[in-house]
Amino acid sequence: MLDTDLSRWLDAEADDLDRGLRDAEEVLPQLAAAGLFGLGVDEHLGGAGGDIRAAVQAIAAVAGHSLTAAFVLWGQRTFIEYLLHTDNAALRERLLGELLSGRLAGATGLSNAMKYLSGIEELGVRAAPSAAGWRLDGRLPWVTNLRRSGFVVAAAVELPGSAPFIAAIPDDLAGLTRSEDLQLLGLQSSNTAALQIDALQLERDWLLAGDARQYLPRVRPGFLGLQCGMTIGLTRRSLQEVESQLAAGRSVLEADWRDLRARLERCVAELEQGLCAGRFLGEPASLFRLRIALAELAGQAVQLELQASGGKAYLQQHGAGFARRLRESAFVPIVTPSLVQLRGELQRQAAGAGA
Ligand SMILES: Cc1cc2nc3c(=O)[nH]c(=O)nc-3n(C[C@H](O)[C@H](O)[C@H](O)COP(=O)(O)OP(=O)(O)OC[C@H]3O[C@@H](n4cnc5c(N)ncnc54)[C@H](O)[C@@H]3O)c2cc1C
Repeated sequence: MLDTDLSRWLDAEADDLDRGLRDAEEVLPQLAAAGLFGLGVDEHLGGAGGDIRAAVQAIAAVAGHSLTAAFVLWGQRTFIEYLLHTDNAALRERLLGELLSGRLAGATGLSNAMKYLSGIEELGVRAAPSAAGWRLDGRLPWVTNLRRSGFVVAAAVELPGSAPFIAAIPDDLAGLTRSEDLQLLGLQSSNTAALQIDALQLERDWLLAGDARQYLPRVRPGFLGLQCGMTIGLTRRSLQEVESQLAAGRSVLEADWRDLRARLERCVAELEQGLCAGRFLGEPASLFRLRIALAELAGQAVQLELQASGGKAYLQQHGAGFARRLRESAFVPIVTPSLVQLRGELQRQAAGAGA
């Protein structure tokens, strides 16, 4: 159950957050005030306890009101997940409190790394050894939660002759340039921009993981599971909107609504079970299939909401919530790992198994 103040704020601001009419700076403090960043983080580390399912549920609950805010929550909580899995305890101690309180924004620039892991693209940042650590050069074309008042970003870095590594890069280092916000179809107040990295000197104590190829598969269930929370929340909300119309002459849609609702809740149960049992570490393909199934459900639910609302959904005066969800749903298939990438990965695995 979401904090009432936060629910009210999200409902009032969701459209403006999506269209960029609300200052993106405000999102993180609102989420922090509701205590959402510590869910699934051990109490001895300053968190609220519980396991990652609590964080997935929180992202889903926020996404039911605003996908922009849910995506900011995803970025922050996923960065926290990186810290929970790092062997660099000093870095964890240095950053965790600031991230849990929302004073510092955590941004995850690891799309590129996830694609790299699947052999889809080269890493966009390269390192050369220097006296205290490394010199970094490169570019991250898409990163969310790059809060202007302070952020730290996780990036995968190619180190010629060695394993690629994962670094946390603080925003105040010379050589790091944040672009203006990218102009988006929706999710505009999400502090999404590009990062240019030129001759940036990074000290060794910012290392999140010495070998990206070992670390990324370990954090991938959390990365993807938390991401599924966004799709779950959006789908649930559309189905709630359908339900509210069923009595108003839309009963012909009831069978479809029941079917989508049942399939959604089956996916949620399977996701939570798999996350809790650690099953996706050894069986990533089953998590990929779940992410694909959830994305398809989101698209179908939004379309069913359109049928349930009818022409009203097309009127600006009445249909703002639907129009926003339609734009929000366009994000679901393309966020990394996109459905195209996941389908390609499953195809490669099937071909490998058959060989
Ligand atoms: C709102 C939003 C927020 C995002 N936030 C993050 C984040 O926090 N962290 C993160 O790591 N990733 C983030 N991404 C990136 C996302 O996860 C995907 O990597 C991105 O959508 C590109 O995926 P793709 O499948 O198009 O990639 P590809 O298959 O690599 O690209 C498909 C085509 O699109 C082109 N293309 C892709 N991106 C751009 C671009 N920026 N400009 C011009 N052409 C382009 C490619 O050149 C290619 O021709 C975000 C994306 C969006 C839309």
